[in-house]
Amino acid sequence: MNRAHGALVTRSEGTQKYPPPLRRRVTVFERLTPPQGGKIRYERGRLAVPDDPIVPFIEGDGTGPDIWRAAQPVLDAAVRKAYGGRRVIRWFQVYAGETALERYGEVLPKDTLAAFREYVVGIKGPLTTPIGKGIRSLNVALRQELDLYACVRPVYYVDGVPSPAKDPSAMDITIFRENTEDVYAGVEFEPGSVEAERLRDFLVRELGVKPGKFRGARVGIGIKPISEDGSKRLVRKAIQHAIDKGLPSVTLVHKGNIMKFTEGRFMEWGYQVATTEFRDRCVTWAEVQQAHGGKVPAGKILVQDVIADNMFQQLQTRTEAYSVLATTNLNGDYLSDAAAGQVGGLGIAPGGNIGDGYAVFEATHGTAPKYAGQDKVNPGSVILSGVMMLEYLGWDEAAELVKDAFRRTVAAKIVTYDFARELPGVKPVKCSEFGAAIVARIEGGA
Ligand code: NAP
Repeated sequence: MNRAHGALVTRSEGTQKYPPPLRRRVTVFERLTPPQGGKIRYERGRLAVPDDPIVPFIEGDGTGPDIWRAAQPVLDAAVRKAYGGRRVIRWFQVYAGETALERYGEVLPKDTLAAFREYVVGIKGPLTTPIGKGIRSLNVALRQELDLYACVRPVYYVDGVPSPAKDPSAMDITIFRENTEDVYAGVEFEPGSVEAERLRDFLVRELGVKPGKFRGARVGIGIKPISEDGSKRLVRKAIQHAIDKGLPSVTLVHKGNIMKFTEGRFMEWGYQVATTEFRDRCVTWAEVQQAHGGKVPAGKILVQDVIADNMFQQLQTRTEAYSVLATTNLNGDYLSDAAAGQVGGLGIAPGGNIGDGYAVFEATHGTAPKYAGQDKVNPGSVILSGVMMLEYLGWDEAAELVKDAFRRTVAAKIVTYDFARELPGVKPVKCSEFGAAIVARIEGGA
């Protein structure tokens, strides 16, 4: 039953070289004991998945434990049903955020990073990030530490989910959001700090920036790095995904009309990847107009670009015209929540942070602290993130069972408060009851 698979793993199509295999080593955990089980390996651009992989998970803060406790039995039931006990996930609990602070006295312990490194694929719930002060985002730290450079967010409609859109079923896109650069790189300086003053001084004196660009005495300054390497590897992954899944187009979303040397270059580098590494598979919008009479040649993937503000409009007005979006970090953050809203909201929006080999899947929403511990919120986001994880492992049969049971549960109007409040006459079930209803459908009891 061992099987190597790499649906979302970048593979060489053109000039790209395989990343080096992950180094093998013995990892000693300070305060954790991993379960018995096999290790997922990533070698020569492919995942090798044993039948009993150890998978680290973080429950998360706030409502994280509620949704995880509902989600894990769903994933286990699907694996059991699909493979009759021949395959099993060996869950390995690791800690970040508030629980890590209690256990380790720090929010992102070395043990946690070591576990994700060692076992390659993991999953997590949401973690708290204070606004405007204190620690930087743990999610961002995790993505940067493991170089999980693509945030992959599929957005599709599940029948029966209440939505504000006229035709939510028109939405079926996957957003590839660059995950490590842009303003999210965290290079910013506090208003009034010595660093901000020195940087302002340097920009004015050495680089000729007009002093009037900085208003008043106290100015916070953030830096927006966008690199050729970072942009190209993200677009490469997006195009590879379109090839693997037989999708018609990849749209580069950017704000290059204003930020020419960052967002504009992202677009240019994206086109370069399409027209060099994937030359035989892609056709650009300009080529379609100039050489193909306005029609995309059969078997080719259309690579086009759209300016970010227009993209928000297009997602609503011409939803069905888009398939894969590749974009910079901040654009992708906004776009993925807006797209999720169109198909029913964050409660069921899944996501995965994926690098070369390493992957950490996660609920797209935050900790929703006002509902913590109430067994109330929708566990759909982490369940469907688990589906992405199963697909990433190549366990498609189990993934399909979850998706099918999820659809049937919602269609039967068994839903949590967020959907119930939009469905007249429907009473909400608890988070755990929603999970149990999905398990029952997987097991054939409903
Ligand atoms: P949030 O936790 O996503 O909650 C915003 C609203 O979204 C909730 O009040 C609720 O809407 C709805 N919602 C969220 N999760 C839901 C679920 N599972 N089921 C149904 N509805 C759900 O956003 P926030 O309040 O802005 O952020 C809270 C904390 O989470 C912050 O510390 C933030 O930094 C962090 N955060 C973490 C991540 C992550 O770990 N990946 C991502 C985003 C935010 P209603 O009030 O309408 O019911």
